[in-house]
Amino acid sequence: RFISFEGIDGSGKSTQARRLAEGLGAAGRDVVLTREPGGSPGAEEIRALLLTGAPERWSAETEILLFTAARRDHLERRIAPALAAGRTVICDRFADSTRVYQGATRGDLRGLVDQLHALTIGREPDLTLLIDIDPETGWHRAKARADAEARFEDFGAEMQARLRAGFLALAEAAPERIRVIDGRGSEAEVAARVARAVEAWEAA
Ligand code: ATP
Ligand code: C5P
Repeated sequence: RFISFEGIDGSGKSTQARRLAEGLGAAGRDVVLTREPGGSPGAEEIRALLLTGAPERWSAETEILLFTAARRDHLERRIAPALAAGRTVICDRFADSTRVYQGATRGDLRGLVDQLHALTIGREPDLTLLIDIDPETGWHRAKARADAEARFEDFGAEMQARLRAGFLALAEAAPERIRVIDGRGSEAEVAARVARAVEAWEAA
């Protein structure tokens, strides 16, 4: 099984991905916890290219190619082998992030994102947990965390609101795959919602 977490910066994705991995691991499941951009040695190198340097270091189109190249390497080298071995893969961000961020933040490039995905990735998670949070809360959570890779987080509340709307639109278009989780409240409260959603999905 391949499960991804999505949401705007500061929504709590990484926290919840880790908690779910711990929970399933404690229940005896063989879990791989990974993240994007990155997750394999080559993809982590591409992540460093993406997240360092001046904001305009790459054109919007080149940036999409780099995110997609990183995903291809991650899928080939880490995700697909783990799934083939019967392991549960939990990934902090996957292709939905590229649809929303690269598809909309620097112009309307969703067509290019979708074409590259079809050509080179062609795989969706079995289940996606969209941690939904209001932009102000997400912004403050993201800002509160000291992060050396801060350049991408300098979006501001207005862009966060657009990104949130983008994720919710994806969820509406793919309700069988994407479950929206209320991200408000404590980490434990959100984790309980995540666990319930995963149990319901597994039982279905
Ligand atoms: P990013 O996309 O920016 O990496 P994220 O969505 O992965 O963010 P986390 O890294 O999990 O989010 O959380 C961001 C910050 O908010 C962290 O400092 C984390 O401890 C805190 N946080 C996470 N969940 C909650 C919560 N439910 N309540 C309060 N703070 C939280
Ligand atoms: O989720 P994480 O904090 O690791 O992401 C690093 C940064 O890269 C974030 O600030 C996020 O906004 C940005 N990002 C992006 N496009 C993606 C994935 C992440 O701009 N497809």
